[in-house]
Amino acid sequence: MPINSNGTINCLHFINGQFVESDNKRTFDNINPATEEVIGTVAEGGKKEVDYAVSAAKRALNGPWKNITLTERSKILRRIGDLIQERQDELARLESLDTGKPLSLAKKIDIPRAAYNFHFFADYIISITNEAYQQDDQAIHYAHRRPVGVVGIIKPWNLPLLLLTWKLAPCLGMGNTAVIKPAEWTPLTATALMEICKEAGVPDGVVNLVHGFGPNSAGAAIAEHPDIDAISFIGEPGTGAAIMKAASNSLKKLSYELGGKNPNIIFADSDLDEVIETTIKSSFINQGEVCLCGSRIYVERPAYEEFLEKFVKKTKELKIGDPFENGTDVGALVSKEHYERVNSYIDIAKQDGAEILTGGKRPDGLDKGYYLEPTIITGLDRNSRCVREEIFGPVVTVSPFDMEEEVIAQANDTHYGLSATIWTNNLRRAHRVAHQIEAGIIWVNTWFLRDLRTPFGGMKHSGIGRTGGMHSLDFYTELSNITIKL
Ligand code: NAD
Repeated sequence: MPINSNGTINCLHFINGQFVESDNKRTFDNINPATEEVIGTVAEGGKKEVDYAVSAAKRALNGPWKNITLTERSKILRRIGDLIQERQDELARLESLDTGKPLSLAKKIDIPRAAYNFHFFADYIISITNEAYQQDDQAIHYAHRRPVGVVGIIKPWNLPLLLLTWKLAPCLGMGNTAVIKPAEWTPLTATALMEICKEAGVPDGVVNLVHGFGPNSAGAAIAEHPDIDAISFIGEPGTGAAIMKAASNSLKKLSYELGGKNPNIIFADSDLDEVIETTIKSSFINQGEVCLCGSRIYVERPAYEEFLEKFVKKTKELKIGDPFENGTDVGALVSKEHYERVNSYIDIAKQDGAEILTGGKRPDGLDKGYYLEPTIITGLDRNSRCVREEIFGPVVTVSPFDMEEEVIAQANDTHYGLSATIWTNNLRRAHRVAHQIEAGIIWVNTWFLRDLRTPFGGMKHSGIGRTGGMHSLDFYTELSNITIKL
């Protein structure tokens, strides 16, 4: 990718194996959220570019890609994973420039996991078995898998390469072709991935990328395109609803990973030091811009005061600032718009009579960049918008509880149902509570521990369907049952 000496990068679309400008040459600026400086331009695509990309993807589906065996596809996925590893320093730098996240975090989580997504599915796709039944002595039945077709992949900005590869690896592995739209705020690593795919031997047209915005732009054009067969979307529930409406005309298959307002439930019998260490991460990692962050913390009354004292102390020790500096724990929020949105929730908390135990303001000495101190809020009613709505920033609310049934009811009192964390050393309670929490992913005495074979996704307004292992492959394939009379 051409990176100029001043760091500016021009992101182009990638259609039919070539980097191309928009037809009308339109571009928009890419801003580094840590400095508020323009770091490059991005081609602004729309219906025309999506049309070109879908045509290329359709041709590729029935071209050479169709004859590449599963074993060959597995080798290509492995090679993509290897190339991500080879370019990990560059990719981590791009991810940090684009998002404002600490470089150390991009190096530790985003880029290694992006490589692993490809390595995992390279192995997984060649190990799958299909259903088969013998029906007395009358017949045998077996299921045959084929690709769904052209898949639209629409992405958010918080974990750009990690989430794109999480979808693209199984999509390609099962023989589909793709039209990708990265989030407008974070176009860099998706563009670099196109180079990697080409180098790894992905035929032209199999993977296409169109930059742009959502409504009346590239995102909407993907959602309504009649020749796109399925959409894999990660983002906000409201956007999911708009895409569903647009996609309904052509009855597309949909996979949704949406927002969360995840409860972190801490019983007094848990090991508080371990709880605090993990809760610091589950609250503030990636500036709290992770859909799985536990933004509603409930602490059993006997442990409440001690928890708050230790949690506030540790939070104040976090180092906020330049994402590229060694030792930075919390970087900048992704954009001005998002920074203002997160700050508006702090204003709401104040209006609702909350106590802000730490944070709630721009850190001293950081005048440029979208920085916000990690913020701990108490004293809010369960109906406050800060407790009910996804803030998606370094902001958590903490409330005490007395009874198990009470905390279960509070945890479930939300439209969301993505993840939950339960801290207790009581085995029976762990199971009992976990079975009652309405969330797709429930961690007991841990957080963010993932095994890519397991079902991942949310219930209620947090998603539709599951991904991970066989669940991913199910979405990216159509099954035909074949019955042979004996
Ligand atoms: P968003 O919904 O605003 O945007 C996501 C993508 O959709 C962007 O590429 C955007 O351009 C596009 N888009 C917007 N409007 C569209 C439209 N009408 N038609 C088609 N495309 C459109 O979300 P965001 O702000 O980028 O991301 C944050 C959200 O993503 C949060 O709610 C977060 O919880 C969620 N998220 C969920 C998961 C998960 O695994 N469940 C993971 C990461 C983020």
